[in-house]
Amino acid sequence: MGTTDSGTEAVNKQETGREPSLRDGVVGGARCVHCGAIGTAWPIRFQDGGGLSVCAGCGGWIARDGSAESPCGVCAFPAASGVVEHARCQEEEGAIPPAGRTSEQELLSEAVEELLETMFESGRPDGLTEYVTGLTSSLVEGSVPDAKFVDLGEPVVAVLPGRQLVMSLGLLAALEDEAQLAFVIAREWELESSGWGYRRFRAASGTRRSWWQRLTRRSVDPLERALELSMFVGYGPAAERAADRGALAKVVHHDYDASAPLKALRRLESAAIAGRGARFLLAGERAEWLQSGARSLGCSDSTRLNREVYRRVVDGFRVFAG
Ligand SMILES: [Zn+2]
Ligand SMILES: [Zn+2]
Repeated sequence: MGTTDSGTEAVNKQETGREPSLRDGVVGGARCVHCGAIGTAWPIRFQDGGGLSVCAGCGGWIARDGSAESPCGVCAFPAASGVVEHARCQEEEGAIPPAGRTSEQELLSEAVEELLETMFESGRPDGLTEYVTGLTSSLVEGSVPDAKFVDLGEPVVAVLPGRQLVMSLGLLAALEDEAQLAFVIAREWELESSGWGYRRFRAASGTRRSWWQRLTRRSVDPLERALELSMFVGYGPAAERAADRGALAKVVHHDYDASAPLKALRRLESAAIAGRGARFLLAGERAEWLQSGARSLGCSDSTRLNREVYRRVVDGFRVFAG
């Protein structure tokens, strides 16, 4: 089979004189501008992906024209190669907003929650809410609102303004035990405490179009784009790598199995829909680092997975059914 496939590919290449195209028209075979890997970009498809692709080798963002992109340090939206901060963002008063729960965050939180409900069907498994919220509280400082669930088969997770954790039922179905879920939650909190999500949503709300403009012009609401970027794309390799590191340390500190993080990402990567979710792409470097990090942090005798607890709770609410 493999021989036949590559034979066909070779014929195609000969006929067209170029590598086969990926789904969004990005030519496979182009080198990643970040790491030099060949032909491994995942096109991101949602309402306004803006032609963004993610390199499966390094997690780097690539614009439609093949140039490099990375998140702006202030607004967390994609910025062109070499741009650390958008010019308009540099002018913003107090470029890095304060972390924590403020009244501004409350307002923003309400708007984002409203949007979430119009964009996704929500899951309402009550007992699951208690379990996930309880686990989150055991991992993070301060109080957290009840976790929210969306009825999506693919793995999706984000912390929204107001410290609102939202995850898909598909994410819970993909994971195997509490240790893996603890890692996923802990890494979202690493991102939230670095202010990434807040900066992005705040910037989006500042440029939000009025309702009548949205009705009359067929453009995507920046807040909607912020939500989709946060859930499906994340914050770029540097921020995500830092989150991996912090979260690995946290799960080991809580006596969970140190090999759970790598297993969690493996499960999530295979459950992600190619060309949509790119947050859990397990690039070689990321896998290697998690493995060596787990080894160096070591495992104590008391490492736990809590697999039985997890299966009982998650199965009990029929996350796995259909
Ligand atoms: Zn790359
Ligand atoms: Zn910016």
